[in-house]
Amino acid sequence: MTAMRDDLFLDSAAALKAAREAVFSETLDRIFAYHPHYRQLFEQKGIGRRDIGGIDDLVRLPVTGKTDFVARPADFTLSLPAGFDAEERVVWDVMYTTGSTGDPTPFTSTSYDFINILALNRNMLRLRGVTDSDSILNLFPLTRHPHGAFARAMNAAAAFNIPIVAAMPGAPSARHPDLGSRMDAVCTLAGRSNATILWGVPSYIRKMLGRAEEMGVALPAVRLVFVTGEGFGEEARQDLVDRLKRLGAADPVISVSYGATEMQGGMVECRPGAGYHNPAPLQFLFEAVDPDSHAPVADGEEGLILLTHLDRRGTTMLRYALGDTARLTRDRCPHCGALTERLVSVPVRRDGFLKVRGMLINPQALADMLASEAGIADYQAIVDKQDEADALSMDRLRIRLLPRSDAGDDLAPRLADRVKSTIGVMPSIEIVAADDPAFADRGWKARPILDIRKKPE
Ligand SMILES: [Zn+2]
Repeated sequence: MTAMRDDLFLDSAAALKAAREAVFSETLDRIFAYHPHYRQLFEQKGIGRRDIGGIDDLVRLPVTGKTDFVARPADFTLSLPAGFDAEERVVWDVMYTTGSTGDPTPFTSTSYDFINILALNRNMLRLRGVTDSDSILNLFPLTRHPHGAFARAMNAAAAFNIPIVAAMPGAPSARHPDLGSRMDAVCTLAGRSNATILWGVPSYIRKMLGRAEEMGVALPAVRLVFVTGEGFGEEARQDLVDRLKRLGAADPVISVSYGATEMQGGMVECRPGAGYHNPAPLQFLFEAVDPDSHAPVADGEEGLILLTHLDRRGTTMLRYALGDTARLTRDRCPHCGALTERLVSVPVRRDGFLKVRGMLINPQALADMLASEAGIADYQAIVDKQDEADALSMDRLRIRLLPRSDAGDDLAPRLADRVKSTIGVMPSIEIVAADDPAFADRGWKARPILDIRKKPE
């Protein structure tokens, strides 16, 4: 590989700050002139470009919430006029995150941003210990709305110049039933691909390894497993290691990342337990603040995690609350030597959103959609595990449904499809009777979705 700008391993905090200020200054110039949301906000608050000299002045800006973004996502994209380089203005791709209503929220990247995304995904692989003799099996499914997981795994391999095979689990479209792979085909492919890295949703990988064992598929080449995981603890990590060893892998390492659409990548571990590293310190700046007062908290204290885009041209955010609290440190990593922010505790979600099978979903969006459906008399939505006794099994979204007497026979399949296109997760629909216990003693203030998953430790 050619020499790369070594943004992860700068000599000193001062050198990192200077490099950050240089790119951020250009971004701030554009935000003050061409960012619809912040222009309006700063005008209201009487904040001028001269008031914000750089990173140290960020604390003077209010926190941006997910609700601000999903209410008017287009207002978060810079509208740069002709005269700016085409690279900064051309839309390369749009990915989606969960929205406030039925419509997922678009996150736009220009060509300029896409080059940055390649660089940050390459850094993720570097931090995770990938070498040029590795190869990847992409186990993320295709989703109805473009989602970072599937696409950025492909892009990461491109940025690192290593081979990748996409397994495409599931059935992405009824129009092309031959596209996508069922579980047994994925297991066969895993054996045939000889990939050294498995990359996907942990509960799916676990299920796949279980089936591979039943089928007698060996995976001796696997040395790394990349998972994005909320609630992915030590027990789950050891379980994947044990399963892989039974399939012939010598010394597999599970590498956990904390991903977000707003990064188009994730904060990754350089080794288990080393904390989640900001993979691109010249693109992202992280802060931790008190969840209520929004005052900065000391390094190492639990705080609400804020993301600032230092170098973006499409969707661009300042002090954006990702929705989790965690402990943040700016100390150089004692393991890999990277000088960048790290989250040194598992992030805990605080904004009422849920992750189901790796997809972030908004319970209110589901409730609003179900409220608009005339054929429903009552319902209860539940997230649990496929195997109740097994905290590590796949997440399941169940909707227990009481139809109105005049609802057609097609209600359940039609509803399943609408739920899938609203929140990205296919539910199982169970028709129940009016006297079902699901509707008893839940009080008048029922939650839109009841999360009864056991958290693995
Ligand atoms: Zn490290």
